[in-house]
This record gives sequence, structure tokens and C-alpha cells, in this order.
Amino acid sequence: MAHFTVIGLGRFGITASLELMHLGHTVTGIDIDEKLAEQYAAELTQTLICDATDERAMAEISLANSEAVLVAIGEDMQASLLCTLLLKNQGVTQIWVKANSTAHHTILSKLGVSRIIHPEEEMGARVAQALNYPMVNDY
Ligand code: ATP
Repeated sequence: MAHFTVIGLGRFGITASLELMHLGHTVTGIDIDEKLAEQYAAELTQTLICDATDERAMAEISLANSEAVLVAIGEDMQASLLCTLLLKNQGVTQIWVKANSTAHHTILSKLGVSRIIHPEEEMGARVAQALNYPMVNDY
């Protein structure tokens, strides 16, 4: 069992968080939107309302016990990059980030994050594999 922090509880972030909980891990979910933080408070280990680009607010959140931090802010590239930079500066080594565009990807790779995720492309490839092996899928 490990602890994870997920920043951004949109469709992608909450799905990843709930699956981690289902797998037996503990998850801190962070979102700037208090409605989302409240909505998922009972389903995750804890939720926090925080602007992940606010250096002082983020410094108060203990991230040292997280196996990895998943940045699931997609649309707001500036917020995603700023948040990633703050995590780097706080010494987080395992940073996984959802990227939304080529520019986003390019900057993230320069920042040296552990894993850049492209949900649509990765899911498209998985669906193609599933279509290629319908028998395996049925089984
Ligand atoms: P999805 O497709 O997963 O719903 P998306 O790619 O459309 O997400 P956004 O909706 O932009 O991405 O962001 C996902 C979540 O991140 C939202 O719930 C949003 O409130 C949260 N978020 C955005 N900016 C910040 C921030 N600065 N700090 C914390 N959370 C943030």
C-alpha cells in the first residue's frame, strides 16, 4: 500500500484517484474548486482545497510521504507547468503529469518529469489493440 497525491479532480484525476483507492492505496486529492473537494471527501483518504500554483499554500501540504504526485490539470497549461515546477522545487521526484498539447509536452519534458500522460492518444492505442484481439477482449 502506498500514498499518492492527485492534483486536479476533473474526470481524469478523479478516475485515477478512485482506482488507486480501489487498488488499496491512500490518496490525497487536491482541487482549487471547493465543490469538487467536498464532493469527493468521503471517497478519497482526504481532499484539500488549494490553488496548486500558490507556492505558500503548496508548501503547507506534506508531499514527502507520497509515492508519486499526479498533476491532472489539463486545460490550464500555465497552472499545470507552474504546479509541476513547485513540486520539483519541493523535492518531489516522482511527478506524473497529464499533457494536453505538443507545447505542453515539450516544456514538461524539459522539466524532467517522470511520466507525461496523453490520455486520448494512449487510450486510442489501447482501443486499437483491443479491436485487434477481440477474442482476448471477450475472454
Ligand atoms: P478532465 O478532462 O480530466 O475533466 P481537463 O483536462 O479538462 O480535465 P481541467 O478541467 O482544466 O482539465 O482541470 C482538471 C481539474 O483541475 C479541475 O477540477 C480544476 O478545478 C482543477 N484545477 C485547475 N487549476 C487548478 C489549480 N491551479 N490548482 C488546483 N486545481 C486546479
